[in-house]
Amino acid sequence: MSWIDPDFPTTATPSDLVGRVLGLNPGMMTGPGTNTYLLGRTDPILIDTGIGVPDYVPLLERYMTERGWKRPSRVVLTHRHKDHLGGVEGLRSRFPGLKVGKRLHRDEGLPEDVHDIRDGEIIEGDGVTLVAVYTPGHASDHLCYYVPEEKALFTGDVVLSGSTSVIPAGDGDLVEYMNSLRRLQSLDVRRIYSAHGPVIEDGPARIAEYIEHRLLRERQILDVLGNGVDTIPAIVKIIYRDVPEKLHAMAGQSVESHLRKLEREARAEETLVKSAPSRWTLR
Ligand SMILES: [Zn+2]
Repeated sequence: MSWIDPDFPTTATPSDLVGRVLGLNPGMMTGPGTNTYLLGRTDPILIDTGIGVPDYVPLLERYMTERGWKRPSRVVLTHRHKDHLGGVEGLRSRFPGLKVGKRLHRDEGLPEDVHDIRDGEIIEGDGVTLVAVYTPGHASDHLCYYVPEEKALFTGDVVLSGSTSVIPAGDGDLVEYMNSLRRLQSLDVRRIYSAHGPVIEDGPARIAEYIEHRLLRERQILDVLGNGVDTIPAIVKIIYRDVPEKLHAMAGQSVESHLRKLEREARAEETLVKSAPSRWTLR
């Protein structure tokens, strides 16, 4: 199955307490599109809003009508990336007064009237409880939501279904990301509902895989650095030789996130070079 699965259902009811409506924004970065989730028996809480595709709100309404629901009780966002909060405006014009929350942290250009959700905050729905878990790394403001009733974890972009998470240069941080994964590992989780792709039935196995994958990449990078390969493009060419070249820019971001981590741990060092990629060496 390809990451961008054209047959991925636009709506689904994976459990009594969880409904899923697709953001209708398929792409290289989003797979089949961003999942938005409705939680609860009535007056559901909506997690994330998609990117703001005009057909999303009618699709959401159709699904809610099927379930006998009138409107979401509130919106909680995983993080500030456009494909998660871009739908806020469209939802608010359809459902005036809709309450929207996220962890407020280093935000710029948020929609108006978005309230703060703290780490550990408990959000009560009808038959569901959401516990906000601060999980920076992919984005500095990222919250996952844990639902103890089902031991379900809504991971946003921290754990994905069918791809690895991107750690963007700037706002991303691999050290924090690894800490966030370990934090998620400490929760009693069964299913993971990620923001992209299908349900992950064995949540703990996937989190362990994610940690293992990053540790493997780190070992590979240390290896090639040890062999004197010293720029990001050259490292990507070796480590990602099996990956199509159009994905190499993204792979470069991943390598950079590893190098920044090694730099912070005083294990690697960057030397800036004028009008050329930096040179990286082991310390
Ligand atoms: Zn994101």
